[in-house]
Amino acid sequence: MNAAVRPPLVSPQRWLSPGLFDFWAGKLNPLWTLQQPMARLLRREPAGEGASTLVLRTNRHWRGMQPGQHVTLGVELDGRILQRSYSPTLLGRRELAITVKTVDGGRVSHHLAEQAKPGTVFHIGQAFGEFSLPAHPAPLLLLAAGSGITPMRSLLRNLLQSPLRAPVDLFYWERDAGRFNFADELAAMAAGEPQLGVHLCATRGSAPALRVDQHALGALEPSALLQRQVLACGPDGFVAAARARLQGQVAGFQAEAFTPPVVSDLTGTVQLTLARSGRQLTVPRGQSLLESLEAQGIKPKHGCRMGICNTCTCTRMSGGTRHLRTGEEQGEPAHPLRICINAPTTDLVLDL
Ligand SMILES: Cc1cc2nc3c(=O)[nH]c(=O)nc-3n(C[C@H](O)[C@H](O)[C@H](O)COP(=O)(O)OP(=O)(O)OC[C@H]3O[C@@H](n4cnc5c(N)ncnc54)[C@H](O)[C@@H]3O)c2cc1C
Repeated sequence: MNAAVRPPLVSPQRWLSPGLFDFWAGKLNPLWTLQQPMARLLRREPAGEGASTLVLRTNRHWRGMQPGQHVTLGVELDGRILQRSYSPTLLGRRELAITVKTVDGGRVSHHLAEQAKPGTVFHIGQAFGEFSLPAHPAPLLLLAAGSGITPMRSLLRNLLQSPLRAPVDLFYWERDAGRFNFADELAAMAAGEPQLGVHLCATRGSAPALRVDQHALGALEPSALLQRQVLACGPDGFVAAARARLQGQVAGFQAEAFTPPVVSDLTGTVQLTLARSGRQLTVPRGQSLLESLEAQGIKPKHGCRMGICNTCTCTRMSGGTRHLRTGEEQGEPAHPLRICINAPTTDLVLDL
């Protein structure tokens, strides 16, 4: 074990609060915490235009991950901890690589990709996410756009630990050819495995590729397409277009979106009651409950902000809500609700 992450020899759970322990132990080594997983940045490497790969080592409280899962990093900027999710590739039991693409106007992505210094320590959450490979070898169609490539890389590295027993095709979209991450690594994977096809689709340039809703996807016959399990990952619009194009025409469709959905048809406001504090708020109907609460200075527990990690789940005691990605409306009382991805449709009472 690296000396820098060795935990203290005594186990003080019984007589110290985690916060107090972390405060004093952290003065000696920020990775020494009672329960909180932490990660230290070992190095930052360029990973293509506007992207860097951060190699991190966690402390012993981080429980590891399955390929395709994500973690939430807590990044301190101007005295505030901002949380963002990333999809690591596991390099060792406690070592992971996170590739961060800068997003226009994005605070955390620019900081991580351009400024984060080796030695910096971040809060890191336990891994979450249901993106997974089928239990038995099956023909796969992997669709990625932008930072959606990161879980695909992790899945592919895992798949290629033994020869493929069914065809796998990865289609990966970026605006410009310079923005592809892991291009050499993906090409090497395809060169070494005859059942793997890697298709890089740049939508600008001299021969622009079609977007996912019109792309021929390797001219797979409908009967071949019907055999494929699809995993799609990227911005909300990309995932929605992939779903519209393929759902019902393939053997299975799993998707995770990295950006929030845009909602335009819910207008006006409703009354939101927070049952525990008795607070009453007026909030917009078209906005996620998490964003509305934050806009009023309330800071509910949350993680990925995309409806994947469940950290923000609370109970809807009464009233109606709409899932912002699927459009599903619900009004059952005493029902768990992820406030990051649901908006109110009527007056609402939450157990918060
Ligand atoms: C489960 C999950 C896994 C993720 N994995 C990765 C990963 O491995 N690598 C990675 O680089 N990013 C990943 N992301 C995105 C990441 O969490 C952040 O959203 C991203 O780094 C931008 O944060 P920011 O603070 O710079 O931008 P913010 O300040 O949060 O946002 C700035 C603006 O950019 C838009 N925006 C935010 N994120 C994106 C995006 N990904 N694409 C396009 N527009 C965006 C916002 O709508 C906003 O308008 C993941 C997101 C989720 C939910």
